[in-house]
Amino acid sequence: MTGVSSPYPSLSDLHALGAAQQPQYPDASEVGRVVEALRRRPPLVFAGEVDELRGRIAEAAAGRAFILQAGDCAETFDNVTAVNIKNSLRVQLSMALVLQYAAQVPVVKVGRIAGQYAKPRSSDSETREGVTLPSYRGDAVNGLDFDEASRRNDPQRLVEVYNASAATLNLVRAFVNGGFADLRTVHSWNSEFVRSSAIEARYEALAAEIERALAFMITCGIGGDELRTIHYYASHEALLMEYEHALTRIDSRTGTPYGTSGHMLWIGERTRQLDGAHVELLSRLRNPIGVKVGPTVSPSDAVALVERLDAQHEPGRLTLISRMGADKVRDVLPPIVEAVEATGRKVAWVCDPMHGNTFSTSNGYKTRSFDRVWAEVDGFFDVHAALGTWPGGVHVELTGNDVTECVGGAQELSEENLAQAYESACDPRLNRNQSLELAFYLAQRLND
Ligand code: PEP
Ligand code: MN
Repeated sequence: MTGVSSPYPSLSDLHALGAAQQPQYPDASEVGRVVEALRRRPPLVFAGEVDELRGRIAEAAAGRAFILQAGDCAETFDNVTAVNIKNSLRVQLSMALVLQYAAQVPVVKVGRIAGQYAKPRSSDSETREGVTLPSYRGDAVNGLDFDEASRRNDPQRLVEVYNASAATLNLVRAFVNGGFADLRTVHSWNSEFVRSSAIEARYEALAAEIERALAFMITCGIGGDELRTIHYYASHEALLMEYEHALTRIDSRTGTPYGTSGHMLWIGERTRQLDGAHVELLSRLRNPIGVKVGPTVSPSDAVALVERLDAQHEPGRLTLISRMGADKVRDVLPPIVEAVEATGRKVAWVCDPMHGNTFSTSNGYKTRSFDRVWAEVDGFFDVHAALGTWPGGVHVELTGNDVTECVGGAQELSEENLAQAYESACDPRLNRNQSLELAFYLAQRLND
């Protein structure tokens, strides 16, 4: 096996592996200073919380829980506002509530949040009206505006990622511990949203039912702190070597390295090379790790990845996030599941129905259709039903705001509607209504 044999690789060891999708910076000494500054900062998450999440993912791997991993494709610094964070959290909690109440399955709530600032790109550059500039690689690297200054890579942005993530986590922690997520207030989660759609009405009815059930429990003397707070975790794609390495800390309890930029870290479809830097770095961390698995992964590739990333056969360690596309999932996923299960490992199987179903419209928008998104989830459930394995969760790009980025759904958004509120800095997200609709479909499938 190639790679680094000492307990923890250095940054130059990782770069020597030819880390994919890394920004080039003009001034290496400035990058060095930023990395040193980040190394002195406090961790964003704590080892004990990371262990707790690993335990919860192990429950999903064992067929006793369902993971809801959701949030923006790309967070942006400008969008770190109380309203955005509240709306995102609220739609995620509402979806979890639907799943938990209607399907009676514990939901492990993991946001694509507080660190999702770096994007892998299929092309290094972008051309508009004859002008070619470097691609936008996420606010962690450069700016979205299409001009030369904005598209320049700036290492100081890594400090801003840390600050924005800390601010986001601070509010998220306040919300989930401070009564906002109290189950006795489910009705108010919805109160600021238009209740015109059939989906919202359905959600209202469910919330009313839950309130009645809770009121009954309370008269029986059941309930208290368990109703008041929830467990919610942060995750992002661990893409940038400098940032992830600088936020690695040795846990004083165990002497082992933890990535402290988020509870769960995942490796993307473009950076999962077996001998690459991302696999090497994450194989050394104690965090629960996700790996995106696209349609070009062979069963033996998948086995090699799980052997590398879950050497200890540890339940909860590894989540395989399949993103095959609705047309391929039924054919490509089964031999992968069979091969991985045959190793005796218990991984969590999660479906990302977004990234294999993206297309461009004739009016120039990158979009996804709700029907195809659901078709992939449906295929994923069928595959697991046929194999006797557990569909352990979904991984979706969504926002709590009323955007128009994905077509279809109960509101029947059309390609012409996309221009109304297309706000994503990268991939199209489900809006609040489409997200709730997905949750109701999921609950139904989990009940089958
Ligand atoms: C993403 O999750 O935004 C992403 C880029 O996914 P993938 O690595 O699966 O393409
Ligand atoms: Mn995306």
